[in-house]
Amino acid sequence: MSHPDDDVGELAAAHRADRFHDECGVFGVHGHPEASHITYLGLYALQHRGQESAGIVSTAGVGREHHVHRAMGLVADIFSEKTLQKLPGRHAIGHVRYSTAGGSQIRNAQPFYATTDGGPVAIAHNGNLVNALPIRKELEGRGAIFSTTADSEVIVQLLARSRERTQEERLLDALSRVKGAFSLVMLTGDAMIAARDPRGFRPLSLGRLDGAWVVASETCALDLIGASFERDIDPGEVVVIRRGRLRSLRPFSAESERFCIFEYIYFARPDSNLNGHNVYAFRKELGRVLAREHPVPADVVVPVLDSGNTAALGYAEETGIPYEQAMIRNHYVRRTFIEPAQSIRHFGVKVKHNAVRGVLQGKRVVLVDDSIVRGTTLTKLVTMLKAAGAREVHVRVSSPPTIGPCHYGVDTPTREELIAHEHSVDEIRDLIGADSLGFLSLEGLRRAGESLKHGFCDACFSDEYPVEVTEPDPAPQLSLFRTVEDEDG
Ligand code: SF4
Repeated sequence: MSHPDDDVGELAAAHRADRFHDECGVFGVHGHPEASHITYLGLYALQHRGQESAGIVSTAGVGREHHVHRAMGLVADIFSEKTLQKLPGRHAIGHVRYSTAGGSQIRNAQPFYATTDGGPVAIAHNGNLVNALPIRKELEGRGAIFSTTADSEVIVQLLARSRERTQEERLLDALSRVKGAFSLVMLTGDAMIAARDPRGFRPLSLGRLDGAWVVASETCALDLIGASFERDIDPGEVVVIRRGRLRSLRPFSAESERFCIFEYIYFARPDSNLNGHNVYAFRKELGRVLAREHPVPADVVVPVLDSGNTAALGYAEETGIPYEQAMIRNHYVRRTFIEPAQSIRHFGVKVKHNAVRGVLQGKRVVLVDDSIVRGTTLTKLVTMLKAAGAREVHVRVSSPPTIGPCHYGVDTPTREELIAHEHSVDEIRDLIGADSLGFLSLEGLRRAGESLKHGFCDACFSDEYPVEVTEPDPAPQLSLFRTVEDEDG
């Protein structure tokens, strides 16, 4: 049998590839003298929602230009004091983006911006529009030139072509045409506008800092900048902030709420509150429910780092089995370390992960993760734990089998790539080499979700999609349009 380290060389990369990925985080601040610096910090706190690219647009207000900086990479690498100095003004919005490999291009980095006859606008969007492709085809047929492959550009194009009088009315006009998920923030010359789709798939919170208004995908961003939490923006609500005043509009017909349950299970940071509920506490509760549904005689409960941490705590508390961090990860290894030269491969492996043989030797282990997507990570982990001396490895998953892709703003593999779509629980157990396997039931998740007191989407577990997808996800051809950012990127 191979040494455990032999299998964990690609573990970090495999773990990233074997997850659902939230595609974006948005942030905005209106009326603060250090708006771009504040936005930079907000994006820093939202980095977990997207690591491929980031951007900030700022302005000093009416009649003044919008300043833009977008680039590929992490927030800390993209922005320096020098770049932030080039983003002056009291108003700013920002965006972090995750994308699939094919869509990982600087031209798709947000915020998107455009000059309309009503002045400049910039938009940062989290979510996915299920009717973006037919709208795009229609607009291209009328002469529109798209410069990105992102569905979000449809909103900008609709807004730019709207016959309504003000930017605010144009945005409402554009949003009335799109379907699906949007939590967005828009910066015009004189206002910041934040909007959530009528189902409220993605989170969006409102805060205050030194008299300025702040909008953020998650409350952890408000915490970092020391802003007070005011409230969540409601599903279907549009909030217009102008000259320090906030106006709330409800322009869409009411729909039943469908907040993404995966935000609670995995995407959001555990220190965030979603709809007034702490993510950490909910994850722990899922671990408890999982323990009641799938108990097993064992000596230690071990989390998959870091995704299974909180559910594993709940499982351990419920069963009384000791919680041990029997895998250690070096947090300071950067992504550039993923593919070291062959000659130093084993060195890289040891730097990243190791199993704690002293904890695992001869033990019956419950290995807890929050979800199984392709199953590749767990296969490697089970092998690693057994090679490190574990006598039995019982895998427990704090969400139901993932059987369908997401159409509402999350990057997912195709249905066929989802291991739970293709295989039964027993088959998956054999494929990953575990001694037993237990998923949280859909009923268990829904019962736990009742405590949230709001409607939620669980379509990737139940196959019950709340908004019909009329067309395949957009994958249009790029128009021949180069920007300076393409050269830089
Ligand atoms: Fe979330 Fe629904 Fe998408 Fe699943 S299908 S990730 S629950 S929005």
